[in-house]
Amino acid sequence: MVRKRFLVEGTVQGVGFRPFVRRLATRHRLSGWVVNRAGEVEIEVEGHPSAVALFEKHLRNDAPPLALISRLDIQDRDTVGESVFNILPSVRGELRGLPVPPDMATCEACVKELFDPKDRRYRYPFINCTDCGPRFTIVREFPYDRDKTSMASFQMCAECRNEYENPDNRRYHAQPNACPVCGPQAALRHEGAVIAVRDDAMKLAAAALSDGSIVAIKGLGGYHLACDAGNEEAVARLRVRKAREEKPFAVMARDLSVISAICSVSAMERAALLGSGRPIVLLQRAKDRLALSVAPTNRFLGVMLPYTPLHHLLLADFEGRALVMTSGNIGEHPIAYEDEHAIQSLRKIADLVLTHDRPIETRCDDSIVRVTGGRTSIIRRSRGFVPHSIPLPFELAEPILGCGAHLKNVFCLCEGNEAFLSHHIGDLETLESRRSYVEGIDHFKQLLRVEPACLAHDMHPDYPSTQYALEQAGVETIAVQHHHAHIASVVAEHDLKGPVLGVAFDGTGYGTDGTIWGGEFLLADLCGFKRVAHLELLVLPGGEQAIREPWRIAAWCLSEVYGDSFQNMDLPLIRGMDSSRWRTLKAMARRGFQTPRTSSVGRLFDAVSSIVTGRTTVRYEGQAAIELEMLADPCESGHYRFDLRDESKLSWGPMIRRVVEDLLGGVPAAAVAARFHSGLSVAIMEVCERIRRDGGPSQVALSGGVFQNALLLKRATELLRDRGYCVWFNERVPANDGGIAYGQVAVAGATMRSKVCA
Ligand code: ZN
Ligand code: ZN
Ligand code: FE
Repeated sequence: MVRKRFLVEGTVQGVGFRPFVRRLATRHRLSGWVVNRAGEVEIEVEGHPSAVALFEKHLRNDAPPLALISRLDIQDRDTVGESVFNILPSVRGELRGLPVPPDMATCEACVKELFDPKDRRYRYPFINCTDCGPRFTIVREFPYDRDKTSMASFQMCAECRNEYENPDNRRYHAQPNACPVCGPQAALRHEGAVIAVRDDAMKLAAAALSDGSIVAIKGLGGYHLACDAGNEEAVARLRVRKAREEKPFAVMARDLSVISAICSVSAMERAALLGSGRPIVLLQRAKDRLALSVAPTNRFLGVMLPYTPLHHLLLADFEGRALVMTSGNIGEHPIAYEDEHAIQSLRKIADLVLTHDRPIETRCDDSIVRVTGGRTSIIRRSRGFVPHSIPLPFELAEPILGCGAHLKNVFCLCEGNEAFLSHHIGDLETLESRRSYVEGIDHFKQLLRVEPACLAHDMHPDYPSTQYALEQAGVETIAVQHHHAHIASVVAEHDLKGPVLGVAFDGTGYGTDGTIWGGEFLLADLCGFKRVAHLELLVLPGGEQAIREPWRIAAWCLSEVYGDSFQNMDLPLIRGMDSSRWRTLKAMARRGFQTPRTSSVGRLFDAVSSIVTGRTTVRYEGQAAIELEMLADPCESGHYRFDLRDESKLSWGPMIRRVVEDLLGGVPAAAVAARFHSGLSVAIMEVCERIRRDGGPSQVALSGGVFQNALLLKRATELLRDRGYCVWFNERVPANDGGIAYGQVAVAGATMRSKVCA
């Protein structure tokens, strides 16, 4: 006989962990006990050594779906000789902040009950259990108990209460436990007035969708706008009403067979779709059975499976088809989640609003992932993933808050060796998103009971996130360069040792010299970096407006290479360009007025895309670059050379010349687009080779929003690996600015540690 003590840390309370431990111990005929103790679960088991070993294995591998073990400490104990295994009453010690579980997709057992006419929750859209249902989005404050959630106003009926209190029931301590008698109810609104409730509301909403209506649907973290994805007229109407002309819509399909009929799905993509976070997965489109307007000009489609019982019910009536499910927001505003506001603002777009009376406490967008290079990488990390932590490569002496960047903002509160990345806050452009930024930080501090001793922020003086950091009195602040943070996010995520050569390509980031960077080769570790090479500068004629009108950058590049004569060339861009507008801009540029310079590769993509496709303006960030990627012919093998004669500069002039020659010579645009991608990949490889010859590392980290370009990432990775480099990129944190906060904390933490050591 042996006895062992297990101390388990992580998301282990309120997730059915103790009943799981008891079942496990009983199955292996072990005696002992389990207890919740101030943020940890403590277990002692006694029995045959092989049974104890099996217990440990299952404890690690088979924990309940919502549990996340961040640390497991095991010690030997003297045997006691008791005969049974018990769950002991919780010990309330000094309360430590506890991570709440993320929201979880409806589990199989609940789906089964949902469609079982004999079950008391038959067709009840709020069915959930210990393994599934809303969590993070309904929590008001710490500690995670029903009365601290938006379920507080619903009194459990006797039957629900029994389930909740019985450790053998699969709804034991499921905080949002509810049934049709005692729980939330659905309601369907038209022009603001309720026209149906409960199951009638569900049935009417499903019928209206089938009939081509647009319905706003309240989900876990906000409202969606939905319509039949196979109905061209309905999708086009949604585009007009939402004033969203081109950005692709995500769709939700009932099951994998429906998805397989639209897209090709690999084993890894299948696993991503079925993952407990139920993210949107970007899939290659196969047969086009959807309306053209769902995702015009895009080879990929964002697809997800239903993740709430309400979705399951709606899609059950939607045989073989898919629903457009796009976030319910207007223009640049964040997704609507507060009922009053959502009903008022979305009724202008939706014919009907399907809502319910369980409030959403925290806005939480759908997460987005994609499989590239044999890895699943996250693009937007929010609903279903937050607030699970991501490890840091070291233990922090004091808690740090990473304030994030400006676009796609995510902040990151860290304690010990755990980084808690926030939900997607979004672009800090509107007052509304700035408010949810500050409220979000307060919410996380309260939930985790952590007060940061240090704030890590971007170097850009005008970012609202920087201003937030500098306004907090009495707290140390550390400014972290944007692209260093990108590279640090890869280094920290993969716990890379020694220096790396970081390739940070993105749209924009404030450099140490006060200019805008975005095409950077950094020799870096967590403590610091040296800028060893970068893209030759481009000019943004007229400033920020050039980002929305990429023709301006394209025209400037062409005039640099060809002088004024470029305006006589037979290129698609010239045909669509306003030449008098260009003359004004050029005159301004000559006088140095409104002509910021940038080394941004994102802007180079904009310029080349504009030359190749003739697109003059964009409607969403990154649109021109995405179109160039989608246009590229994957079978094309040629590439355009960049000029590397200057040691530290990647010159684009020769490349632009080749693009123009090919277009004028009648080479198809798809081949030109592919040659540009390959040329840039070759340039990355050649710069890495040059730096390695001078003693640089064989470890390369690729990060920044540009590396969401799957073609560029694939080509660059292949070329580098062929030459013996270890290539790393982001997987669990986004490569775009959603990963900046994590990188900021890694840099600030390492800086503080090195100070202590020195
Ligand atoms: Zn369930
Ligand atoms: Zn009930
Ligand atoms: Fe960036």
